Amino acid sequence: MRHFIDPQGELCYYPCEVMTVDTKLSRALELLKDITPLRQDCGSLCASACCKDEGEFGSLVWLLPGEEQVQMPWGSVSPAVMPVTQTQVSAIYCVSPCDRQHRPFLCRIFPLSPFYSVKRGEWDVRMDRRAAPVCPLFRYGKAGLDPAFVDAARAAVRLLAQDPEWEARLKKLEAEEAAYRMEL
Ligand code: SF4
Ligand code: SF4
Repeated sequence: MRHFIDPQGELCYYPCEVMTVDTKLSRALELLKDITPLRQDCGSLCASACCKDEGEFGSLVWLLPGEEQVQMPWGSVSPAVMPVTQTQVSAIYCVSPCDRQHRPFLCRIFPLSPFYSVKRGEWDVRMDRRAAPVCPLFRYGKAGLDPAFVDAARAAVRLLAQDPEWEARLKKLEAEEAAYRMEL
Protein backbone atom coordinates (compact mmCIF):
# COMPACT_ATOMS: atom_id res chain seq x y z
CA MET A 1 0.00 0.00 0.00
CA ARG A 2 1.41 3.38 -0.93
CA HIS A 3 1.26 6.18 1.59
CA PHE A 4 0.51 9.83 0.88
CA ILE A 5 0.78 13.08 2.78
CA ASP A 6 -2.50 15.01 2.81
CA PRO A 7 -2.71 18.83 2.59
CA GLN A 8 -2.64 19.09 6.41
CA GLY A 9 0.67 17.24 6.40
CA GLU A 10 -0.83 14.09 7.86
CA LEU A 11 -0.14 10.59 6.65
CA CYS A 12 -2.89 9.31 4.38
CA TYR A 13 -3.18 5.80 3.03
CA TYR A 14 -5.20 6.26 -0.13
CA PRO A 15 -4.43 8.23 -3.27
CA CYS A 16 -6.81 11.19 -3.46
CA GLU A 17 -7.96 10.33 -6.94
CA VAL A 18 -9.18 6.96 -5.69
CA MET A 19 -10.41 7.83 -2.22
CA THR A 20 -11.28 11.12 -0.59
CA VAL A 21 -12.24 9.84 2.82
CA ASP A 22 -11.58 11.85 5.93
CA THR A 23 -8.08 11.38 7.32
CA LYS A 24 -9.37 9.90 10.57
CA LEU A 25 -11.44 7.36 8.70
CA SER A 26 -8.46 6.60 6.49
CA ARG A 27 -6.43 5.82 9.58
CA ALA A 28 -9.20 3.73 11.10
CA LEU A 29 -9.46 1.73 7.88
CA GLU A 30 -5.72 1.24 7.84
CA LEU A 31 -5.76 -0.21 11.37
CA LEU A 32 -8.03 -2.95 10.05
CA LYS A 33 -6.49 -3.41 6.62
CA ASP A 34 -4.83 -6.77 7.10
CA ILE A 35 -6.41 -8.09 10.26
CA THR A 36 -9.37 -10.48 10.37
CA PRO A 37 -11.54 -12.02 13.12
CA LEU A 38 -9.39 -15.16 13.23
CA ARG A 39 -5.76 -15.72 12.32
CA GLN A 40 -7.00 -18.08 9.63
CA ASP A 41 -9.48 -17.07 6.93
CA CYS A 42 -12.78 -17.28 8.79
CA GLY A 43 -14.61 -17.12 5.46
CA SER A 44 -13.51 -20.69 4.85
CA LEU A 45 -15.61 -21.77 7.88
CA CYS A 46 -18.86 -20.41 6.52
CA ALA A 47 -18.32 -19.85 2.77
CA SER A 48 -18.18 -16.12 3.50
CA ALA A 49 -21.70 -16.14 4.89
CA CYS A 50 -21.67 -12.46 5.84
CA CYS A 51 -21.18 -11.52 2.18
CA LYS A 52 -24.13 -13.58 1.01
CA ASP A 53 -27.86 -13.87 1.15
CA GLU A 54 -29.29 -17.38 1.09
CA GLY A 55 -25.98 -18.75 -0.14
CA GLU A 56 -25.56 -16.40 -3.08
CA PHE A 57 -23.51 -13.23 -3.21
CA GLY A 58 -25.83 -10.40 -2.35
CA SER A 59 -25.05 -8.46 0.77
CA LEU A 60 -25.97 -4.85 1.56
CA VAL A 61 -23.43 -2.97 3.66
CA TRP A 62 -23.83 0.58 4.94
CA LEU A 63 -20.94 2.85 4.11
CA LEU A 64 -19.46 5.52 6.33
CA PRO A 65 -19.43 9.06 4.90
CA GLY A 66 -16.78 9.27 2.19
CA GLU A 67 -16.52 5.54 1.56
CA GLU A 68 -18.88 5.88 -1.39
CA GLN A 69 -15.94 7.61 -3.13
CA VAL A 70 -13.96 4.38 -3.13
CA GLN A 71 -14.05 2.43 -6.35
CA MET A 72 -15.86 -0.79 -5.46
CA PRO A 73 -16.50 -2.59 -8.75
CA TRP A 74 -17.64 -5.74 -6.96
CA GLY A 75 -20.98 -4.16 -6.14
CA SER A 76 -23.29 -1.24 -6.73
CA VAL A 77 -23.54 1.75 -4.43
CA SER A 78 -26.89 3.41 -3.84
CA PRO A 79 -28.72 5.47 -1.18
CA ALA A 80 -30.18 3.63 1.79
CA VAL A 81 -31.86 4.45 5.08
CA MET A 82 -30.82 2.92 8.38
CA PRO A 83 -34.13 1.63 9.73
CA VAL A 84 -33.95 2.53 13.42
CA THR A 85 -32.39 5.98 13.25
CA GLN A 86 -33.71 6.81 9.76
CA THR A 87 -30.22 7.97 8.83
CA GLN A 88 -29.62 8.53 5.13
CA VAL A 89 -26.52 6.64 4.07
CA SER A 90 -24.87 5.14 1.05
CA ALA A 91 -24.71 1.36 0.89
CA ILE A 92 -22.98 -1.15 -1.32
CA TYR A 93 -24.79 -4.21 -2.60
CA CYS A 94 -22.05 -6.77 -3.23
CA VAL A 95 -22.49 -9.18 -6.10
CA SER A 96 -19.02 -10.74 -6.11
CA PRO A 97 -16.03 -11.06 -3.76
CA CYS A 98 -14.44 -7.73 -2.94
CA ASP A 99 -10.96 -6.32 -3.09
CA ARG A 100 -10.25 -6.74 0.61
CA GLN A 101 -7.89 -3.77 0.60
CA HIS A 102 -10.87 -1.53 -0.08
CA ARG A 103 -13.66 -3.24 1.83
CA PRO A 104 -15.84 -0.89 3.91
CA PHE A 105 -15.26 -0.13 7.57
CA LEU A 106 -18.29 -2.08 8.78
CA CYS A 107 -17.06 -5.19 6.97
CA ARG A 108 -13.67 -4.75 8.58
CA ILE A 109 -15.04 -4.85 12.12
CA PHE A 110 -17.76 -7.52 11.62
CA PRO A 111 -18.83 -9.51 13.69
CA LEU A 112 -18.09 -6.69 16.13
CA SER A 113 -20.10 -3.52 16.53
CA PRO A 114 -19.27 -0.21 18.24
CA PHE A 115 -20.89 0.76 21.53
CA TYR A 116 -20.30 3.32 24.24
CA SER A 117 -19.65 1.73 27.61
CA VAL A 118 -21.41 4.00 30.09
CA LYS A 119 -19.88 2.01 32.92
CA ARG A 120 -16.34 2.62 31.72
CA GLY A 121 -16.98 5.95 30.03
CA GLU A 122 -15.37 4.95 26.75
CA TRP A 123 -16.11 3.53 23.33
CA ASP A 124 -15.58 -0.17 22.82
CA VAL A 125 -16.70 -3.02 20.58
CA ARG A 126 -18.97 -5.97 21.30
CA MET A 127 -20.39 -8.88 19.35
CA ASP A 128 -22.95 -7.63 16.86
CA ARG A 129 -26.28 -9.31 17.62
CA ARG A 130 -27.15 -9.18 13.95
CA ALA A 131 -24.32 -11.66 13.40
CA ALA A 132 -26.11 -14.33 15.44
CA PRO A 133 -27.95 -16.05 12.56
CA VAL A 134 -25.06 -15.64 10.12
CA CYS A 135 -21.67 -15.91 11.73
CA PRO A 136 -20.37 -19.17 13.23
CA LEU A 137 -18.07 -17.14 15.49
CA PHE A 138 -20.95 -15.44 17.27
CA ARG A 139 -21.54 -18.19 19.79
CA TYR A 140 -17.96 -17.93 21.08
CA GLY A 141 -18.20 -14.22 21.78
CA LYS A 142 -15.35 -11.77 21.75
CA ALA A 143 -13.16 -14.27 23.59
CA GLY A 144 -13.29 -16.50 20.52
CA LEU A 145 -11.87 -13.84 18.22
CA ASP A 146 -8.23 -13.05 17.61
CA PRO A 147 -7.37 -10.54 20.39
CA ALA A 148 -5.38 -8.52 17.86
CA PHE A 149 -8.55 -8.14 15.77
CA VAL A 150 -10.59 -7.02 18.78
CA ASP A 151 -7.86 -4.56 19.78
CA ALA A 152 -7.65 -3.15 16.25
CA ALA A 153 -11.43 -2.76 15.98
CA ARG A 154 -11.56 -1.05 19.37
CA ALA A 155 -8.67 1.25 18.43
CA ALA A 156 -10.36 2.15 15.14
CA VAL A 157 -13.65 2.96 16.88
CA ARG A 158 -11.91 5.05 19.53
CA LEU A 159 -9.97 6.90 16.86
CA LEU A 160 -13.19 7.85 15.08
CA ALA A 161 -14.88 8.75 18.35
CA GLN A 162 -12.32 11.50 18.93
CA ASP A 163 -14.15 13.53 16.28
CA PRO A 164 -17.67 14.72 17.27
CA GLU A 165 -19.11 14.10 13.80
CA TRP A 166 -17.76 10.59 13.67
CA GLU A 167 -18.89 9.95 17.22
CA ALA A 168 -22.39 11.01 16.22
CA ARG A 169 -22.29 8.41 13.43
CA LEU A 170 -21.01 5.77 15.85
CA LYS A 171 -23.97 6.51 18.12
CA LYS A 172 -26.33 5.87 15.24
CA LEU A 173 -24.62 2.62 14.41
CA GLU A 174 -24.87 1.65 18.07
CA ALA A 175 -28.59 2.45 18.10
CA GLU A 176 -29.17 0.29 15.02
CA GLU A 177 -27.49 -2.69 16.62
CA ALA A 178 -29.04 -2.08 20.05
CA ALA A 179 -32.51 -2.51 18.56
CA TYR A 180 -31.64 -6.16 17.91
CA ARG A 181 -30.51 -6.58 21.52
CA MET A 182 -33.98 -5.58 22.68
CA GLU A 183 -35.56 -8.16 20.39
CA LEU A 184 -33.49 -11.07 21.76
S1 SF4 B 1 -19.80 -14.79 8.81
FE1 SF4 B 1 -18.30 -14.63 10.50
S2 SF4 B 1 -16.93 -16.39 10.19
FE2 SF4 B 1 -18.02 -16.07 8.24
S3 SF4 B 1 -16.66 -14.70 7.02
FE3 SF4 B 1 -18.16 -13.38 8.13
S4 SF4 B 1 -17.05 -12.82 10.03
FE4 SF4 B 1 -15.97 -14.61 9.18
S1 SF4 C 1 -17.51 -5.53 0.81
FE1 SF4 C 1 -16.47 -7.52 0.77
S2 SF4 C 1 -16.50 -8.22 2.91
FE2 SF4 C 1 -18.07 -6.60 2.71
S3 SF4 C 1 -20.00 -7.70 2.25
FE3 SF4 C 1 -19.05 -7.05 0.29
S4 SF4 C 1 -17.89 -8.83 -0.38
FE4 SF4 C 1 -18.30 -9.11 1.81
